[in-house]
Amino acid sequence: MKYLSTRGEAAQRTFDDILLEGLSPDGGLYLPEHYPAFGLGDLKRLQRLSYPELAFEVLRPYLAPMEDATLRRLLEATYDAATFGSEAVVRLKPLDAHITLLGVSEGPTLAFKDMAMQLLGRLFEQALARTGQHLNILGATSGDTGSAAEYAMRGRRGIRVFMLSPFGKMSPFQTAQMYSLDDPNIHNIAVQDVFDTCQDMVKAVSADLAFKREHQIGTINSINWARVVAQVVYYFAGYLRAVDAVGAPVDVTVPSGNFGNILAAHVARRMGLPLRRLVLATNENNVLDEFFRTGVYRPRVPAETRQTSSPSMDISKASNFERYVFDMLGCDPARCRALFEDALVRDGQFDLSGDPAFARMQQEIVSGASNHAARVATIRAEWERSGQIIDPHTADGVKVARDKLEVGVPMLVVETALAAKFADIIVEATGQPPQGPEAMRDLALRAQRFVVMPSDVDALKAYITAHT
Ligand SMILES: *Cc1c(COP(=O)(O)O)cnc(C)c1O
Repeated sequence: MKYLSTRGEAAQRTFDDILLEGLSPDGGLYLPEHYPAFGLGDLKRLQRLSYPELAFEVLRPYLAPMEDATLRRLLEATYDAATFGSEAVVRLKPLDAHITLLGVSEGPTLAFKDMAMQLLGRLFEQALARTGQHLNILGATSGDTGSAAEYAMRGRRGIRVFMLSPFGKMSPFQTAQMYSLDDPNIHNIAVQDVFDTCQDMVKAVSADLAFKREHQIGTINSINWARVVAQVVYYFAGYLRAVDAVGAPVDVTVPSGNFGNILAAHVARRMGLPLRRLVLATNENNVLDEFFRTGVYRPRVPAETRQTSSPSMDISKASNFERYVFDMLGCDPARCRALFEDALVRDGQFDLSGDPAFARMQQEIVSGASNHAARVATIRAEWERSGQIIDPHTADGVKVARDKLEVGVPMLVVETALAAKFADIIVEATGQPPQGPEAMRDLALRAQRFVVMPSDVDALKAYITAHT
C-alpha cells in the first residue's frame, strides 16, 4: 500500500514512512491510495474470527509489507483480555430494542482512544527497534488523549513521553490516572495555565526544527493515520456481531470532535461494510453539525470554543475533516488546497452547499448537536430505563441517535468513554457517583508523580534536554 497526501505534493510513502510522521511536508494529511474491498462473502468469513484475527484481516493491506507473522504477534499481544477486560475486546451493550452501545472503552484508560493507542505503542516500538532510533513524544492533553498515550507507551523501549497538562484543570479521575504512573519513560508536566497554552508550548518546541531533530521529537495526535485505521477494525467487529445476516443495514452514531472516529466508520463503509447512515453527534461546539446541515465549514477560534461537560469533544476545528473532504471531492489535491490553504486562511470558512458532492455527504452522514441539559436528561433517562450509567460523550451520541432513529434499522452508538471518568455530571444526573472498575478503586490513593512548570518554552526545552 502506498500513501498520498491530501494536498498532493508528497512523494508516495509506505506505512513505515508515515507511521512516525504527523502532517505530510506539504501540510496535508496522509491517505491510502485505495481502500481494500470486502464483499459479503468475505464479511461472512470474518464473522467467525476473534478480535485479533479480524484486526489482522482488516489491517494487513494497510500495513504491507509488514510480515504476516509479525503483525499477528503484535495484534495478539495488543488485543487481549488482560488489556481490554475480555477475550471479545469490544462489547455490545443493548440499551433497548433499537439502540445498542458499541463498547470500545474497555481498555486501561476507559476511553475508545485506547483501542488505537495500544496498537500504536507496539507499532512504534517495533519500528524504532528495527532502525535503532529513539523517539521522544511531546504532547499536550486536556485529559483523554494524554492518558491513553501514556498507558500505551509506558515501559516501551526507545520511547519517552513528555505530556503537558493544565495544572489542576482535569477531572480528579483523569489527573490520578495520568499522574500515578511511575514508569521512568513517562514525564507528566503540569503547566500553570490552560490547555490551549500547553498546546502552544508544544507547537513552539516543534517549530524549532533544530531542537526537534536533535532531540528526536515526535507527536501522536489524532491525525496519525495508524490511529484512524486501527479504529476501522471495531466498526467491522461491531457490525458483524450486531447482525444475524451479513448484508443487513445498520446505522452508527459517533460522538465526534476531531472527526477521527467517524472517519474510521466512513473508511469501513468504503471497504464494503454495510453501514447505512453515519450519525455525527456534537456537543455545544457544533462546527461539524453546522457543516452537515449547511455546507459551511467554519472552524472556531479558541475564544469561541466552549468548555462543556463532554470535554473531549470541545474542539475548535476538526483536524481529520480534510481527509473526508478530499475523499468526497474526488481525491483532488488542488481542490483540497484551495479549500484548506486558501479559503480557510483568507475567509476563515468555506462553503460546499452548492457542490453536488455535498448532497452525497448529506446522504451518508446526518448530524445533530447536544448540550448540557440534554446530556443530563439523557444520562438520567437511560439510567432509569435500563439501569446503565453512560458517560457524557456517549450521552450526546444517544441523544442524537434517538432523534435520528428509523424504524427497522438497528442503531449502534459508539461508547467513547465510561462514566467513571466524569463523576460530576453523573452525580448531577443520578444523584450518585459512578462505579469504576475494580482495578481502579484505589486510584485516588496512589502516589502521584509530576513536575509543575510555568508556561515557559525555554523551561520546557531545558527539561527535555535534561531528560533525554
Ligand atoms: C476523543 C474523544 C471523542 C472525539 O473523538 P474524535 O475522534 O476526535 O472525533 C469523543 N469522546 C471521547 C470520550 C473522546 O475521548
